[in-house]
Amino acid sequence: STAPIPAVVGGSLRVPLVTGEHVDYANLDHAASAPCLTPVRDAVDELLPWYASVHRGAGFASQVSTRVYEQARNALRRFLGARSTDAVVFTRNTTDSLNLLARSLPRHTSVVLFDTEHHAALLPWRGPNVRRVQTPATPAAAALALDEALAATPEGPRLVVLTGASNVTGELWPVAELARIARRHGARVALDAAQLAPHRPINVRTLDVDYVALSGHKLYAPFGAGALVGKADWLQAAEPYLVGGGATRQVTDWGDHLGVAWSAVPERHEAGSPNVVGVHALATACDVLGQQWDAVNAHEQALLRRLRAGLASVPGLRELSLFGSGHDRVGVVSFTVDGQDIGLLAAALAAEYGIGVRDGAFCAHVATTRLLRQAGSDDTRALRASLGLGSTAEHVDRLVHALRTLVADGPNWRYRKDDGRWVP
Ligand code: PMP
Repeated sequence: STAPIPAVVGGSLRVPLVTGEHVDYANLDHAASAPCLTPVRDAVDELLPWYASVHRGAGFASQVSTRVYEQARNALRRFLGARSTDAVVFTRNTTDSLNLLARSLPRHTSVVLFDTEHHAALLPWRGPNVRRVQTPATPAAAALALDEALAATPEGPRLVVLTGASNVTGELWPVAELARIARRHGARVALDAAQLAPHRPINVRTLDVDYVALSGHKLYAPFGAGALVGKADWLQAAEPYLVGGGATRQVTDWGDHLGVAWSAVPERHEAGSPNVVGVHALATACDVLGQQWDAVNAHEQALLRRLRAGLASVPGLRELSLFGSGHDRVGVVSFTVDGQDIGLLAAALAAEYGIGVRDGAFCAHVATTRLLRQAGSDDTRALRASLGLGSTAEHVDRLVHALRTLVADGPNWRYRKDDGRWVP
């Protein structure tokens, strides 16, 4: 009854089971990396014969690549509703983008963040001016805690780091509300949009955030391209992230030393030959998703309801949640199952049912451990099922059936631990 969703590649992948039989792969791990959109694959295919080094050659192919690369910046601006003065710096991924921002902060910048962040948002900020606030149990309490933390920071530049959607629970953070509090304290806001961008439209002006970091591979494009989009001044004043060709306007031999004039943003932070193909893929994905949010969300939320209802029928299964089970979330659900070894369950789902989920602590050890404790588990690992454009009702139903069967009967095959992981 709903509009068609953008198609992804890999819809009919066959994978082997431990029995030797092959089944359709049920990819329920979109939060780790999302499959490539078919229009993205086509755009890459079209560019492949033409790619060349950008900004460096007079030849036709170099001109094509340069145009494609620069147009990609506009696609990201459109996708994020960026201000005309915002810089679009291409990076490798969200981790790279946040590290670039961390290296570009003015001296003595106070950084305030919640402690349940993904390691990519938790770890790049160093020094005595970093304040990690323990994530409270409600969004309203988070707003109060942020207000208090900012009131206690010294004078000077301030940055609040927020995540749009948790990669552990899929829950949405109240970004606009928290950004309003940040503003009251004169702080800038950086948004880790790795998990939000594939699921919901983002507008930096209505959210009133200063920086957005995202990854192509979570956004239905292949690996290797990401972006940092935001205010140019700090980036412009910073030392280049990497040094080399592209980041330099002019290098002069003065005999005893080299005189180097660095390029302006964005080239300043894009030294080396850039990933033209990856950036084109990312930009194409932004354009495709940006036109189909209604269909994308209707598909995902219907499957999410089905998934959560199904999981609720699995004996002993406990969902993890930051803000309570009624809080709005994207298609990500992590859970633990009483009395079950999580690694063994994940291995059996793959080997006996052809289902791909993620088990572990999801590069968010503080968050995962704390939420497991709250759910009454003393494990350090959870299972995560995550939905996207490659997901179907059959995948969801297969997962629920498999979990119910595994919990009732145990895995059908003998598994052993190999290098810490369960294998058949
Ligand atoms: N932030 C969040 C919320 C994420 O889910 C991830 C990826 N798991 C990252 C940051 C890091 O993204 P990447 O690995 O692409 O750098």
